[in-house]
Parts: sequence; structure tokens; C-alpha cells
Amino acid sequence: MSYQHQWADGSAIALPVGKVVCVGRNYAAHARELGNAVPETPMLFLKPATALVPLAPDFAIPAGRGECHHETEITVLIGSTLSGDVSAAEAQAAIAGIGIGLDLTLRDLQNVLKQKGHPWEVAKAFDGAAPMGPFLPPTGFADLTAINIGLTVNGEQRQAGSSADMITGIVPLLQFIATIFTLQPGDIVMTGTPEGVAALQSGDRLMPTLSGHFWQTRVR
Ligand code: ZN
Repeated sequence: MSYQHQWADGSAIALPVGKVVCVGRNYAAHARELGNAVPETPMLFLKPATALVPLAPDFAIPAGRGECHHETEITVLIGSTLSGDVSAAEAQAAIAGIGIGLDLTLRDLQNVLKQKGHPWEVAKAFDGAAPMGPFLPPTGFADLTAINIGLTVNGEQRQAGSSADMITGIVPLLQFIATIFTLQPGDIVMTGTPEGVAALQSGDRLMPTLSGHFWQTRVR
């Protein structure tokens, strides 16, 4: 299914579909659960636009490539260009929407790549690796440092977190990214996952939640 940014009411957002900038290990408890050290500066990686698919009503996971984990993440839709040294106010003003998405990760494959010191892309940037939910206007989030996200799978709570627990918060993260990758209108930033990542199975029913909003989806 082709992907277009959407508002929560299903209407299309008039921004192009661009790259996805992701941050690893942005919640200390998640870094610990995978036995990873907490990085001193944000650990960035990219997913191409071809990784984006709609989160709902369903999405696919790769078959025959080992465990595919859900990483439930607060997402930021970029509305205006951020490049180089930008102020916190400029970074905040560039936020067009706040949403929720899954950073799908082929965990067995990623572990092999990490051992070999190889890049992660084949484990994290494959087609369909970023099921992306709709966006809400940033005006609905009075405090970007107090956004709650969660995920239930088949009725069981798997993940719950708050942007309060991020090592690098949303606005400082946008400022850091802009010094390395120019953020363009239509790009998405995925802000890292709280703990509780686990494997998905075909047929799983998921309910991602974002500060009182929730959606229903399932794994094809
Ligand atoms: Zn992630």
C-alpha cells in the first residue's frame, strides 16, 4: 500500500514523503534490555521513504528472516527545513505533527550485523520497516517532554513510555539532527523506543496509544 502522511481524521497532509531519521538507545531502560551502552551523543540512522507504510488497518512483517521486533516510537513530522545550527524555537516551529510509528527491526539479523560491525540497514530500513500512524497537530501537545506512548499486543501491554524519559528530548534531538542531516518538509523523525520490545507474529492485533489517542491494527 502506498504511503501518504495523514491527519488523524484520515485527510492527507500536503507534504511530500521524505526520509525517516531514527535515533537508537534514546531511553536508558531500552538500551539496558538489549545489553547496550547508552551513547554519549544521539545514535542516528536512516530509513528511506520506501520503508514507510500505513500503520493501520494492517501491515506486513518479513517472513523467513528471523524475529521482527516492534519498537513503538513517538514520531515527528517536519514542516519546514532545519539545517545546521538552529535554535530550540526554530526546531519547535518546524514540527508539523506528532504521531506514532513502529521502527520494525529484524532483531536476529541486527544482532549478527552488530557482531560483525556492519551497518544495520538490512535489519531496519527494508521495505515496510516503518509502519507510520497518522499525525496530530503539535498544538495538541502542550508539553513535548510529557507525551505518553504505549503498545498492547493481543490485549497485553507490551510497551509504555513517556518522552519525559528520553535521554535526548524531542526539540534537542531535532537540533542535533539538523547539524548532520538537513531535515526537509515531509521528513519524519522517529524518537526512539521505550523498553518492552518483542517479536511480532502474523495475526497479532496491536493497539498503539499516544497521549489518550489510540489506533487498532494487525500484522498480516
Ligand atoms: Zn527504534
